[in-house]
Amino acid sequence: MEDSARMPCYESTRGGAPRVDFASALCTGLAPDGGLYVPDQIPLLGESAWRAANSFSKMAFEVLAPWLEKSVPAGALRAALTDTLNFPVPLIQLEGGEWEKVHVLELFHGPTLSFKDFGTRVMARLLSEILGGEQLTILVATSGDTGSAVADGFADRHNLRVVLLYPYGQVSPTQERQLIVQRPGVQAYAVRGTFDDCQRMVKRALRAEDLKKRLAAANSINVGRLLPQMLYWIWAVVSGGFRNALFCVPSGNLGNLTAGLLAALAGLPVRRFIAAHNANDGFSRFLAGEQSPFSDSVRTVSNAMDVGRPSNLERIRALVDPARMREWIVARSVSDDATYASMRRVYEASGYVADPHTAVGLEAVRQYRRTTGDTGCAVVLATAHPAKFPEVVRRSIGFAPEAPRRLATVWERPTRSSFLGTSDRDLQAVLQAARHVHA
Ligand SMILES: *Cc1c(COP(=O)(O)O)cnc(C)c1O
Repeated sequence: MEDSARMPCYESTRGGAPRVDFASALCTGLAPDGGLYVPDQIPLLGESAWRAANSFSKMAFEVLAPWLEKSVPAGALRAALTDTLNFPVPLIQLEGGEWEKVHVLELFHGPTLSFKDFGTRVMARLLSEILGGEQLTILVATSGDTGSAVADGFADRHNLRVVLLYPYGQVSPTQERQLIVQRPGVQAYAVRGTFDDCQRMVKRALRAEDLKKRLAAANSINVGRLLPQMLYWIWAVVSGGFRNALFCVPSGNLGNLTAGLLAALAGLPVRRFIAAHNANDGFSRFLAGEQSPFSDSVRTVSNAMDVGRPSNLERIRALVDPARMREWIVARSVSDDATYASMRRVYEASGYVADPHTAVGLEAVRQYRRTTGDTGCAVVLATAHPAKFPEVVRRSIGFAPEAPRRLATVWERPTRSSFLGTSDRDLQAVLQAARHVHA
């Protein structure tokens, strides 16, 4: 706090909307001109953040307070972070020659076993605080893990309802089960289309004049989700004592990478970022200077990263100039075959069981090290628990990891979901109905 003259405001990446405070950016998600909110200045990481680094939630408070303090009173923020960030974030050092100095930061020990728990839990809590007596419907398009994290984080809050859209038949059985277990205030819809269709439907609904005031997005386009994701980047550097590590992020919509870039802009020492992609490699094509790098998403075994047009690229371009982007970020694409091989290779060398998304990240680091000779310290963000993908893991290493208790229980609970078409009308009907439940 001592480092910044004033709190940041949030402005649209498209420059056609007024600046707003954190509370408004949180409640609307998308800016009125269709852009994404970005901070108009970056509060630098202060001494107080490093001093508090023996406790995740204490550090979280010191880091986040300068970004939003006027919108959320300090006491409420402290309580929100202590209540929501109440799971471990282990940093594991891999063994085996090839993996020397490679660490895995396990971000999957929250309630739904993916890193998305960080952003969604904090966002839900802050939103609920800020809304008070008002009601809001949260609309989410999910390629798998977002939906369950949002559903879990937002369920059972008196002022929030959740409408989830996921592409039917394109999430794993375990992921689907996590999405459709009954939760108070949450409705799940299986959309007959792709994830990109779901995302388009959400964006259009958020822009529709008559719906605007009652709807918000909880995708990584919401700053309320993005800011808490900075925390574990900082935590990794602190708990590993890293001076200048290379970070590798399994990437889809590029929200996680954007959070890392924000942390780096705030002063976190990062040598380089590797954005690890599956066959959906538009971002690497973009960095290579291709004219139209993006296309519809294709399906892969790391399905939470099956994103054809990553929405957070718009933010990255607003935050980082092209020269710096090329210097800071490299992107690698990893095929499904290489993903299976990666799980096997890591397991055989070090006994570590990685989920398919983390395996993409590990393979990207391996390739990067081979082609650049840069074998310095590296941190791979482990984005999901391997037990969420038992079929894929078994196919690769011959057995399925044991499911933690909270995952096993989703098979015992009742479920609820409906089908939905891809037209705006289909979605409008659902949203009108959700509104009646409010009233
Ligand atoms: C969402 C997700 C990703 C991709 O994260 P982005 O922030 O969208 O780039 C990677 N791995 C897993 C397991 C995910 O759930």
